[in-house]
Amino acid sequence: MQKLQLRKLASQRVKEQAKLVKEQDFVDEGKLKVLKEGESIELIDNQGKFAAYCLVGRQNKGIGWIYSQTAEDVWTEELVYDRLEEAFFKRTKMESIKQSNAYRLFNGEGDGIGGVTIDYYNEYLLINWYSEGIYRYQDWFLNSIEDLQPKIKGIYASRRFRNQALQSKAELIAGEAAEAGLIIQENQAKYAVTLGTDWMTGIFLDQREVRKFIYEQAQGGKLLNLFSYTGAFSVAAALGANIKTISVDVANRSLAATKEQFELNGLSTDPSHHEIRVMDVFAYLDYAKKHDLQFDIIVCDPPSFARGKKKQFQVEKDYPTLAADLFHLTKPGGMTLLSTNHSAYDADRFRQDMVKAAQGVAGTFHLFQQFGLPEDFPTSVDSESQYLKVIGFYREE
Ligand code: SAH
Repeated sequence: MQKLQLRKLASQRVKEQAKLVKEQDFVDEGKLKVLKEGESIELIDNQGKFAAYCLVGRQNKGIGWIYSQTAEDVWTEELVYDRLEEAFFKRTKMESIKQSNAYRLFNGEGDGIGGVTIDYYNEYLLINWYSEGIYRYQDWFLNSIEDLQPKIKGIYASRRFRNQALQSKAELIAGEAAEAGLIIQENQAKYAVTLGTDWMTGIFLDQREVRKFIYEQAQGGKLLNLFSYTGAFSVAAALGANIKTISVDVANRSLAATKEQFELNGLSTDPSHHEIRVMDVFAYLDYAKKHDLQFDIIVCDPPSFARGKKKQFQVEKDYPTLAADLFHLTKPGGMTLLSTNHSAYDADRFRQDMVKAAQGVAGTFHLFQQFGLPEDFPTSVDSESQYLKVIGFYREE
């Protein structure tokens, strides 16, 4: 096995359990070029001692993930089996997923092997491979899954590699295909998901706690859901209370997909109850401002980069301005929920930016709720791993 030495800072980070390894962490970056995808390498610290093993798998985030800091635990099929077994067992103990049949079964580095995630959707699995390196071991994973999860009906996988030519959307790789519009149960709600077409399935499993929160907090009045996708937040609110919802997303597909989620839950899709607007969020906000609209709950979950009709939105630069607009549209006594999954937007900075935006508008806002990833999405200490940040503000009466 190749041995490569880490710089001092990287050695320290690895000691503190960091799992992501980047090119600049190495003393001799020149040696990295010859490393093959899927190769296991030994990392030596700045004092020349064994530090960890890393599996080479190049992603935008880095060159590979550490899978072990114990000299005996080398990369074998048994190691993969053990990590999967442990992760699957942990899920059986998690209270927060007891009422749901869709959750993350294996979360990459947080479960001990970076670059791969496995989601459970009501007897089907969806595997996401994030590097060519880890994908080389697909058979090891499939063998283990077959043994550990014998009741699984079908397995889908998608390749989300850096090299676009080698990417693939979700494809069936084992077992039988799920019906289109497979239904999952999450706490009080049902959602239709689609496996095998897109990278996105119709539901973002990492927002489960936020949906639960909205379900519990909704009382009445109006909820505005921005960048609503299939309207999952709106459905959660509508199940929780007699509340009018307005879901706004620019994608044409969001109209039928959102209707489907409402109907599945026995909710009206009459626009007087639940409006679904296929339009640019920024255009909607102009309209809302012009008509002095206000909302009891606003939930906003933009992509990291969005192209509006008139302007571009970059989350790190433009979220404060967007948030200020949303605070302005929040009724006294209401709440504003702001979400970002941009991993480069550090949690502290995001919070500070949003607090500052709240201070700059009329009304008094209190930060009263924060969410990160739920327990079925365990993370490593790396900031890249802890990507989800959701914060809630309450506006004083
Ligand atoms: N909040 C959703 C997920 C949002 S994904 C959920 O929890 O399910 C981001 C969504 O933003 C996508 O559906 C995309 O179509 C939408 N989007 C991107 N740019 C937009 C814009 N300028 N206006 C409205 N929607 C936009």
